[in-house]
Amino acid sequence: MAWSYVTHYVCDGCAAAYELSRPLNTCPACGGLLEAKYDLPAMKRDLHPGMFEGRTTSMWRWHEFYPLREEAHIVSMGEGGTPLLPSVYAGKQLGLSRLYFKNDALMPTGSFKDRGFSLAVSFAKELGVSQGLTYSSGNAGSSFAAYANRAGLNATILVEYLANPLKKAMIGLYGARTATLYFESMNEITSMLEEAVRELGLYQFVNFINPVRHEAMKGYAYEISEAFDWKAPDWMVHPVGTGGGIWGAWKGFGELAELGWIDSLPRMVAVQPDATGPIPRAFREGLREAGRYGDSSATIAQSIAADAPIQGGRRVLDAVYDSGGFADTVTDEEILEAMRWLGKEGISAEPSSASALAAVRRGVRDGLIGPDDCVVCVVTGSGLKQPSAIQKAVEESPLQLRASFAELKALLS
Ligand SMILES: [Zn+2]
Repeated sequence: MAWSYVTHYVCDGCAAAYELSRPLNTCPACGGLLEAKYDLPAMKRDLHPGMFEGRTTSMWRWHEFYPLREEAHIVSMGEGGTPLLPSVYAGKQLGLSRLYFKNDALMPTGSFKDRGFSLAVSFAKELGVSQGLTYSSGNAGSSFAAYANRAGLNATILVEYLANPLKKAMIGLYGARTATLYFESMNEITSMLEEAVRELGLYQFVNFINPVRHEAMKGYAYEISEAFDWKAPDWMVHPVGTGGGIWGAWKGFGELAELGWIDSLPRMVAVQPDATGPIPRAFREGLREAGRYGDSSATIAQSIAADAPIQGGRRVLDAVYDSGGFADTVTDEEILEAMRWLGKEGISAEPSSASALAAVRRGVRDGLIGPDDCVVCVVTGSGLKQPSAIQKAVEESPLQLRASFAELKALLS
């Protein structure tokens, strides 16, 4: 029995293999993205679905599936293991009997990013990395700041100028050095970061450029499959910025299928805002690579307003095509409606998170999602991250009263 079954990295581009003990970001030979590989035959031999009972409910319940080698290096605040809530409102509206919400808004810093940063910061600690850099639209920055500070890692966080002031303040609150980043397109950011890797060797935490962050998102597959008694849902619906969530989840389900623990795979759905949406645009055109498209400033869905995905969004598009899923865009109006629907579920979601439910609505309308399909929407971030959007979604009640029984009685009648 091993604590982790990770073996090595393989480059997406040139298939070169690398040791995990080197603090690598992208492939030193070709600049391609690195992917962690595991000894699946050994896992099949040693592990079984019943063995996780009684362990922590955090994402570290599944440590055999992550690239960290030693338990002592874990930096954790109890992330993962979030509730999988059956729908009580939206399902009825849409005629769906099995609609669920994986509520990652309940994470330590209020977004799903905590899964990735618990792993990536732990892994950096194991490698002896003492400083790191990331770019963020807000949530990743908060998460990186919080975990880096706890680990004693010196973090620099570039926050895009479109992020709301609260998100920027949160990063400062968690104790990181932060700077506001101005740009025309995501392409410029990716080039800048890739050059920083080559020229400075500065370890980076941006999804995919950091080769382990998205590994933590495999936890969706384990947690959800376990909750459904080792069955995969029919659909997994993910808001997509860089796409670490959808790619990680897809990889996790693939591992479980290879181990023989689940007998089917979910169809993966990628959602982006109408104002940008390079992934859905490529999908509509049948392409495996997405170009730059849209205006990141023209939507309330800040966290997923990327106009140019990293390395053409190939991983995200692979997950969508290979699973038989789809990619779609949703408008701000549809997002605001989905926020109101989620409110009736007891869930406060930021606009980017609500986009998943808006996409389900489209999928039902278009006849892609059937009434008895099992559908899981990932709620990636709390509505409290973007309070102005909640105020936009619902008007303040005009009702008022003085503290007197007569006025209360009048109000209630
Ligand atoms: Zn390579």
